[in-house]
Amino acid sequence: MDRPLEGKKALVTGGGRGIGAAIALRLARDGADVAITYVHAADRARKVVDEIEAGGRRTIALRADAADPDAVVAGVDGTAEEFGGLDILVNNAGIAPFGPLEDVTAEEVDRALNIHVRAVFVASQAAARHLGAGGRIVSIGSSLAERVPYGGWTLYSTSKAALLGLTRGLARDLGPRGITANLVQPGSIDTEMNPADSPEAEQEKEFIALGRYGRAEEVAVMVAHLAGPGGDYVTGAAIPVDGGVTA
Ligand code: NDP
Repeated sequence: MDRPLEGKKALVTGGGRGIGAAIALRLARDGADVAITYVHAADRARKVVDEIEAGGRRTIALRADAADPDAVVAGVDGTAEEFGGLDILVNNAGIAPFGPLEDVTAEEVDRALNIHVRAVFVASQAAARHLGAGGRIVSIGSSLAERVPYGGWTLYSTSKAALLGLTRGLARDLGPRGITANLVQPGSIDTEMNPADSPEAEQEKEFIALGRYGRAEEVAVMVAHLAGPGGDYVTGAAIPVDGGVTA
């Protein structure tokens, strides 16, 4: 099937760079119209939009801070309004709080949970009002929800672990309507958040069965699979794309 997502309408949060940009471009290549949200990097989001437009798909970039639930819902509703519906929501936007446990502040806890959990909850809730049978929700979690091989990531792993419960709950709540909800859990992926050439990366590579970082496109292909016909009978699943770091 050349364009398995032909006619589908998608939203990718944080689609302006990194894994989100790879997902947005992949969904568009597979035939979907794709909206992206960004918060800081308007110029980067513009480039993704230009590339999608050049491929002949409809697209739009919306500024929506994941820390602000009203903005998140407006991003979902704005996409559905622009495209005349919504078929696929990809909850990708994220941050990487890291550091000694004793230094983590209550404000940092709130911020991580708001961006990684509350935003995914309210976006999925808003999307559920637009999605019909065949609708898809795919969220980007982390291998650190399953296995934490090194210190400093307690807040991050806590926030990403919440997506397991959220995804399974969504699968139950929305399954009767023919809507699936799944979680993709990447391991170490080479992006600005986690560059493969940093000193810390050498430590991370020791834990990866395949011995190398993944590429954003290697996450995107799994998201596209779940968003397309390959995901028809998959829901409530947490799927690793982690080079075996959790093996
Ligand atoms: P990047 O730092 O490269 O990109 C982060 C993306 O999230 C950007 O598009 C950014 O938008 C967006 N974003 C950040 N904060 C907000 C916010 N408050 N509101 C809206 N959007 C926001 O990271 P990655 O591409 O590596 O990460 C993408 C997802 O994958 C995250 O959820 C991350 O936790 C997860 N992940 C990444 C791994 C890795 O090794 N890279 C491993 C496991 C999971 P803007 O450009 O406007 O700043």
